[in-house]
Amino acid sequence: MRYRRVKGTRDILPHEAEARRGLESQVHEQLSKAGFLPILTPTFEYYELYQRSTGESSDIVTKEMYRFQDMGGRDLALRPEGTPSVMRAVLENRLKIPIRLWYVMPMFRQDKPQKGRYREHTQVGVEVIGEAEPQADIELIKLGFDLFTLMGIKGMFLELNTIGCRECRSGYTEQLTGFLKEHHDELCADCKVRMNRNPLRVFDCKVASCQSILKQAPSQRDHLCSACIEHFDAVKAGLERFSIPYEENERLVRGLDYYSRTVIEFKSSTLGAQDTVCGGGRYDYLMGELGGPPTAAVGFAFGVERALLASRGEGIFEFNQSSIPLLLLPLGDEAKVYSLELLFKLREAGIGVQAEFRSGNLSKQLKRANTRNACKVLIIGENEIASGKFILRDMQTGDQQEVGFDELLNLFCSAKGQSC
Ligand code: ATP
Ligand code: MG
Repeated sequence: MRYRRVKGTRDILPHEAEARRGLESQVHEQLSKAGFLPILTPTFEYYELYQRSTGESSDIVTKEMYRFQDMGGRDLALRPEGTPSVMRAVLENRLKIPIRLWYVMPMFRQDKPQKGRYREHTQVGVEVIGEAEPQADIELIKLGFDLFTLMGIKGMFLELNTIGCRECRSGYTEQLTGFLKEHHDELCADCKVRMNRNPLRVFDCKVASCQSILKQAPSQRDHLCSACIEHFDAVKAGLERFSIPYEENERLVRGLDYYSRTVIEFKSSTLGAQDTVCGGGRYDYLMGELGGPPTAAVGFAFGVERALLASRGEGIFEFNQSSIPLLLLPLGDEAKVYSLELLFKLREAGIGVQAEFRSGNLSKQLKRANTRNACKVLIIGENEIASGKFILRDMQTGDQQEVGFDELLNLFCSAKGQSC
């Protein structure tokens, strides 16, 4: 094979592409009802946007970005996540706050390719901008919970944590740094860097030896200020009140620098190593970081590929030729022209119909109809055109009947031509 797709990218074949459209329209319907407006941002931005917001200590910025220079010497990057671009767009276009936005956009990360992890993937993101109250967190989490339930995510569970605010985090960070220094030699190279740049991020480390050291790390719980405790308690009470099961995970920090207070992950026990379907939380400082007015915000993003894997399994990636409900089989040149007319009339009536325009005698045409997986065929020859009566053949049973145009409409219209 001369040309292959780039490592870590995927071809989304018809079955999966269809399933994605279904998922997107489900999401669109639910989010519209909750007041979310769609937004789309450019596929590439200035590198600095992500450096500033996603964060210099995040894996995305340090290891995963597709960063490049264009011919004008601009320092650019393919979008690795949606939130920074959306916040930039809100600021740049002076959108009125509060506002609720959602998107479905491809993301690019030079991750190590494996099941559930690709170099181009698609995320659905939901951002509530300008709402600081814990009720916004509860509403958002419930929205996610309901969406994933509707999608049929199997083995779903929700992890919840708070990472405090700037004020109460600094005392904790100091204590954590002290602990990490004591264990400096045992930490992986990445954590040695994280320790100095953003110590909280060590909790996101995937290296087992680091994780076992971190079990003894001091807890952030003892450092939360009263406002953060109150906010977190209100979120938890809300989840309990609305019967949304959650597990508190003190070590959940999320991989991006801009989070504050609430952090969440929806996971699926069916996914194996890459089990996070959705990550999110509060990012009250991001707008300020980007040069805007201080603006509280909370949101989440889920990977479409992982959501499909967790709801429909591996089978979604397979593709079997789908069936054609009705195939017109013209015999001869005159019939071909006539078939096209009939095709448009039937389609206008809402019937899922195709035509076989290659030339051939009846037995060749029937063979083709079989290969194309047609459920029923309509045989159109000179006599049929003259009489206005065609032979409708069931390809499974071989049963044939003579039908006129109106009869054909009656037969197919109730089923809208969707199935055999
Ligand atoms: P992980 O730790 O699983 O790599 P992450 O923290 O990098 O996740 P986020 O940045 O929070 O992920 O992205 C939100 C969601 O997007 C993830 O929960 C996951 O469903 C999906 N996602 C992230 N990276 C990839 C990828 N490389 N391929 C496919 N889906 C991804
Ligand atoms: Mg990642």
